[in-house]
Amino acid sequence: MQILTGFGASSQGKNRLSFSFQSQPSITSTYFSPIQSRLQRSSFGIAFDIDGVVLRGRHPIGGSSKALKRLYVDSTSCGTLKVPFLFLTNGGGTPESRRAIELSELLGVNVLPSQVVQGHSSFKSLLNSFENELIIATGKGEPALVMSEYGFKKVFSIDEYASFFENIDPVSQYKNWTSKQAFDLTSDSEKIMRRQSVLSKRVKAAFVVSDPVDWGRDIQVLCDVLRSGGLPGQENGNQVPLYFAADDFEYQAAFPFKRLGIGAFKIALESIFNRIHHRPLEFVSYGKPNPLVFKNVEAVLRQILSSHCDDHFVNKGDIEFNGFKTLYMIGDNPVVDIKGAREAGRPWFSVLTRTGVFRGEGNHIEFPADLVVNTVEEAVDYILESEHIS
Ligand SMILES: [Mg+2]
Repeated sequence: MQILTGFGASSQGKNRLSFSFQSQPSITSTYFSPIQSRLQRSSFGIAFDIDGVVLRGRHPIGGSSKALKRLYVDSTSCGTLKVPFLFLTNGGGTPESRRAIELSELLGVNVLPSQVVQGHSSFKSLLNSFENELIIATGKGEPALVMSEYGFKKVFSIDEYASFFENIDPVSQYKNWTSKQAFDLTSDSEKIMRRQSVLSKRVKAAFVVSDPVDWGRDIQVLCDVLRSGGLPGQENGNQVPLYFAADDFEYQAAFPFKRLGIGAFKIALESIFNRIHHRPLEFVSYGKPNPLVFKNVEAVLRQILSSHCDDHFVNKGDIEFNGFKTLYMIGDNPVVDIKGAREAGRPWFSVLTRTGVFRGEGNHIEFPADLVVNTVEEAVDYILESEHIS
């Protein structure tokens, strides 16, 4: 991939920071007077990955808090933005509103719900197909709550769904963990009604919203649902549609070494399903690196721009008319973040950090980024310098 004119760093910035480029960018040394600078207001936005870029577990990394504060007009980092930015993560399991509160607390900046795009955010686009249909959702956190907040009216978590089928998990008595389930709050008569409704109706779609907790039980129940055409215990039928919020094989969490993600779960499910069903498993994966996700993010950044950005720093008129000149994707995973930005094409510019999945000295060989830096703070320094924002 060639770096296009307009993506160049100033020679000063390039010397100060140890950036690695896939190829040498065009370097301009034009001096901008204050008046010219106003006329050349930037038309760019930034998407930050979360795990391995701004956080490891619940701890900020790579100078993320300081870097993010530079994107706000106010030093308290709670008001208007200088630059439209959002978090683009394949993680999830909690509604965007709740994730925004959590990120605000951990990073010390005011993150809005509209600034959080998770793997499962794309499931909203399936509302027309399944709004009033029986669906099941699995994954850590509160997958059913996530889906019901998107507007799906008949969603069950796989925990609750499985509880209606006696002995569906033959080893459940050996699992000594307990899980708090929302349906525990419902009355007995309501529970009976819900159970009857589940036992007599077919599931129309299954969603893997976030990293599954109980892989064994989930694989068993999903195989039951998928191969029976939506009702466990029935003969083989047409496979029920299956959707994954993401496809990450591995990701960087709090443990020093990479952890298995949704993509690994998908391989396990697929492998087993294909042994017991006459047709191979069919599924759709959302999240990065799906280029559609990047298209959607562009639209979200436009909304953030018009509602929360200061005209002084960003050229709203130009963006509304011509679109963003540059959109920066800052990520730690070449296979997910960098591959996705590369496949999305212009105006995306990929920045790879060394704080998560990728730890190499140079660039990634298979999916090289436009720029490689050590930390997210270096990435933001580079971007603001390139875009003439102090
Ligand atoms: Mg990551």
